[in-house]
Amino acid sequence: MKSVYLDYNSTTPIDPAVLAEMQAFSAETFGNPSSVHWYGQKAKAAMENAREKIAALLGARPAEIYFTSGGTEADNLAVKGAAHAGRSRGRHIITSRIEHHAVLKTVQYLEKEGFEATYLGCDGAGVVSAAELKQALRPDTVVVSIMMANNETGVIQPVRELAAVGRGAGIPFHTDAVQAVGKIPVNVDELGVDMLSLSAHKFCGPKGIGALYIRRKTTVTPLLHGGSHERRKRPGTENIVGIIGMAKAMEIAVERREDEHRRLSELSDYFVREVTSRIGEVYLNGSPGNRIPSTVNLSFRGVEGESIILSLDLKGIEVSSGSACTSGSLEPSHVLQAMGVDPILTQGSIRFSMGRFTTREEIDYTVAALPEIITRLRSMSAVYGKSS
Ligand code: PLP
Repeated sequence: MKSVYLDYNSTTPIDPAVLAEMQAFSAETFGNPSSVHWYGQKAKAAMENAREKIAALLGARPAEIYFTSGGTEADNLAVKGAAHAGRSRGRHIITSRIEHHAVLKTVQYLEKEGFEATYLGCDGAGVVSAAELKQALRPDTVVVSIMMANNETGVIQPVRELAAVGRGAGIPFHTDAVQAVGKIPVNVDELGVDMLSLSAHKFCGPKGIGALYIRRKTTVTPLLHGGSHERRKRPGTENIVGIIGMAKAMEIAVERREDEHRRLSELSDYFVREVTSRIGEVYLNGSPGNRIPSTVNLSFRGVEGESIILSLDLKGIEVSSGSACTSGSLEPSHVLQAMGVDPILTQGSIRFSMGRFTTREEIDYTVAALPEIITRLRSMSAVYGKSS
């Protein structure tokens, strides 16, 4: 059976060039970067070289890059770390309702510890407003965290404007750029952010490795306690092979970014055009002109997302839905809810996310498969087409 992977926002296939670099490194070196002997120093030199590359690609200094186990840990370190470090100044945090759970659940945890949180909403296009952020700031606000590109809709946030508001008030500003790196320009000084999270497996690198950029003089309390690795901010022997892979993957992603942006914009525009012309009552969620082009979130009226996923899976097409299935019931996507999408449409939302290895032929195969699936599921629906 044909296999079409359209779930790049969930994770990406590792680039063969990245894998080759990781294999060559592991075959040659196994040292612990903290060891003073030759093996250790060889590993440390490779790690620092990777740190320099990653820093340069973000417009940062190497000493501002802290390796973590991925995006979730980077988000936790940023939000929890800045909140704890600022505890003597205040106990108020600002984030948005459309964040990834790695930020949302961290803020909810901090609320249980006694912090107060303001969750900014967004408009119908999925965009958070800088004016609303300004209104939400308080003298006791200790950290602001607003993502750069949304994982469900691909909508890009005005991070530069948002960060200017936060930093103008002297409050550390964090952005979760996990879905942005390698897809749109990400430069910490141009954005004016104090902290920025990234994760290698979202840009054709390995899983289990990420980083947090922390601007000089931004104070963050570590999550873990142990050795003095990562300048005392993240103890634990570094995932050196992962770090080598992340640097290589980021280099490739940034180098190809413009070409891929163009190619994937054309491919996703074509996909949306074809699907909406062949199937009625399909709606694109999120601002059409302000998205990571590789993310297409569509709502099909009258069908449940999970049923579409299963039917596509039977044809070898892998996608995901915005709604999570918990205890037998469909919990609608918190992102689409925040955007005010009709609850019926949130149930039928599907995220198609494309990437480096997605071809026009795969998109054609998906476009050809969808009409029959949607027609069949709608014909089985108890409600679709029965009223009005
Ligand atoms: N933030 C965003 C926006 C994401 O999309 C993800 C992963 O889906 C994460 C954070 C978590 O990253 P990781 O899987 O590396 O922990």
